[in-house]
Amino acid sequence: MRPFSALTLLIVIALTDCKSSSQPQPEQPQYSVPAEVESYIQSFRDEAKKRNNPVSTANLIVTFGTTQSEDVCGQCLLQTGKTPRITLSADSFCWQQVSQYERECLVFHELGHCLLGRLHKTDKFPNGAFVSLMNPDNVAVYATCRYPIGGDDCDKRTRRDYYIDELFDASTPAPAWGK
Ligand SMILES: [Zn+2]
Repeated sequence: MRPFSALTLLIVIALTDCKSSSQPQPEQPQYSVPAEVESYIQSFRDEAKKRNNPVSTANLIVTFGTTQSEDVCGQCLLQTGKTPRITLSADSFCWQQVSQYERECLVFHELGHCLLGRLHKTDKFPNGAFVSLMNPDNVAVYATCRYPIGGDDCDKRTRRDYYIDELFDASTPAPAWGK
């Protein structure tokens, strides 16, 4: 019983927090995205369209700035009545010196929070790979081949397709390479 009660209390506090920070005046929808991030947002639109997902990117603010903690490369701030805001760290290991795949993973992860309402998911496949791009520890799930099992396991395209399927539909079945 005890742990459950503590968890309930935490949830209540979180909800109260959300309420007190929301303002009665809703913001008008607005779109503001840095030029070097735009191609990733366009890619997100394309992937959504391919999957017949009606998600809109029309109300979204993305900025480069300081995230809550140094080891976090991005964060999504969702407040009732306000435009979803993504802050990306421009640090070299977050953005400047990483591949376009890693950048896409980061942007898609934050869009997962901010536009798809996804929460973190820490599950792993038997082979050790994360089940979801929504894991909080390593969003570069298809940017690198960290869990080679052999064969075409390191095919980035196959990986990317699966993780983006899962991003838009959390009930996507496990792929063969995860076993
Ligand atoms: Zn996250």
